Amino acid sequence: MTLLAEFKLWQEKLQALQKEGEELMARIEELERQNAELRRRLAEGDYEGDGFEALTKLYEEGFHICPGNFGRGREEDCLFCLNFLLHKGKK
Ligand SMILES: [Zn+2]
Repeated sequence: MTLLAEFKLWQEKLQALQKEGEELMARIEELERQNAELRRRLAEGDYEGDGFEALTKLYEEGFHICPGNFGRGREEDCLFCLNFLLHKGKK
């Protein structure tokens, strides 16, 4: 490989990395925004009722309530969350 070809390859890798970094940053900002929103609502007592109701509400509003992803934004249904709700709901 010529030095120029090698340089171009390196440049492409660098650009890909930069793009990845930007995407990661956007994701972090989104998580921080969600986190702040949750804290605000918790502080305002927006999640009243028993714990189960609060969790159900949280899930319906698009957040994970399963231990592995608790509090993270949820784009689609999560089997872990649903399983959790199903078992808690039976009590
Ligand atoms: Zn989940």
